[in-house]
Amino acid sequence: MIDVERQRALEAIATEVRACTNCRLHETRTKAVPGEGDPETEVVFVGEGPGFNEDREGRPFIGRAGDLLVKLLASIGWRRDDVFITNVVKCRPPENRDPQPDEIAACAPFLRRQLEVLDPAVVVTLGRYSMATFMPGVRISQAHGTVRPIDPATGANLALAFAMYHPAAALRTPAIERESYADIAAVPATLLASRERRGAGASTIPEPLEEPVPSTDDATPEMTLF
Ligand code: SF4
Repeated sequence: MIDVERQRALEAIATEVRACTNCRLHETRTKAVPGEGDPETEVVFVGEGPGFNEDREGRPFIGRAGDLLVKLLASIGWRRDDVFITNVVKCRPPENRDPQPDEIAACAPFLRRQLEVLDPAVVVTLGRYSMATFMPGVRISQAHGTVRPIDPATGANLALAFAMYHPAAALRTPAIERESYADIAAVPATLLASRERRGAGASTIPEPLEEPVPSTDDATPEMTLF
């Protein structure tokens, strides 16, 4: 799909999201937050749900957690405009509570369709609810910084998932913030690994990788995305 077609397809999904009443979260939202970014990106970041500021503005990751995400991206030489950023649920859970399973299920088709349009090589999960979508059955304390092939049923075909803590958790705990900088340093190498795997036409049957993809000399922080 060429850039303009992708942009149109993403806008069509965003229009549906803004009018959606498929779960109870529409009752308390100010604005739905479909997601935003480069329609031609190879990397999609998926968080949990909008917070206070995001709900007001209708844009993802624009509060303090968003500021930290921008700093994390800058640490590998990337800007937020280089990637696509969205969430598992597109409307703010009241009082920032965790999204409920039925809300995540109701919203899942939007994320799946976004991933089908974007066709990313890498999905970076931010937080345990996003991770559970792409790496079911693992604990974030053990899985952060590691890579798994993604089930194509998620909408991301031949892609790798890379798990990170949610930036809001990093804001609360300095040790998690340090680990988040260490984790994101491996994302460029994960992108290279995924490009290679996609070029080789890897099996669409997901099998867990034993080890995290290490950083390599080919994946310096200055590496460009495209
Ligand atoms: S969270 Fe998702 S499913 Fe629920 S109302 Fe918002 S857009 Fe619709």
